[in-house]
Amino acid sequence: MGGFGSGRRGHLPKKMTSSVPQLNINFFQKNGALSEGRHGVIEIEVSDESNDLYFYMGETEITFVYSSSIGNQPSKHYHYAVGVEWTDCNYGGARPWFTCPSCNRRCGILYIANQNIFQCRKCQNLRYRSQMEGEFARAINRVYRHRSKLGFKGTLLDRAPLVRPKNMHQSTFVNLVIGLVLENQRLELIMRSNR
Ligand SMILES: [Zn+2]
Repeated sequence: MGGFGSGRRGHLPKKMTSSVPQLNINFFQKNGALSEGRHGVIEIEVSDESNDLYFYMGETEITFVYSSSIGNQPSKHYHYAVGVEWTDCNYGGARPWFTCPSCNRRCGILYIANQNIFQCRKCQNLRYRSQMEGEFARAINRVYRHRSKLGFKGTLLDRAPLVRPKNMHQSTFVNLVIGLVLENQRLELIMRSNR
């Protein structure tokens, strides 16, 4: 495995495959990529898609350039710098770290979040949890909305009696009941995956 290019014009650096949606500082160090002026390209996998990630090492920060798409949306370009700092080791030498762009903590590995931003594990977990909470709240709201359309007033723990309200068309009633069953299933799935 050769090192990354050192900036010669017209020279295409060797492509390395990491195939994981994360960037490990040790990987960069092992390949000699943390010296000023080094640059290269790594293949990364985000949402089952391979993307080329270009990097350029400056004096104290490494700049990443890549494009990625979420779902069917057109791909967006990302271009930003992440700090690189060094701490002394007990046995001599120095150890490199990324500075998490979100919380400024030192970290060895940056993970690629859903919004295509590199973050440390702590920031990723926080984001994940708040996303789940949002999803959970929305699922509960959908269940309540269906129940109130059907005329139920109790809490989620009360079993809803399936009686067609007066003046409601049979087809509307059936659609609402099917919708309620589906929303209940979605809510249950979210609750299970949250355990
Ligand atoms: Zn962080």
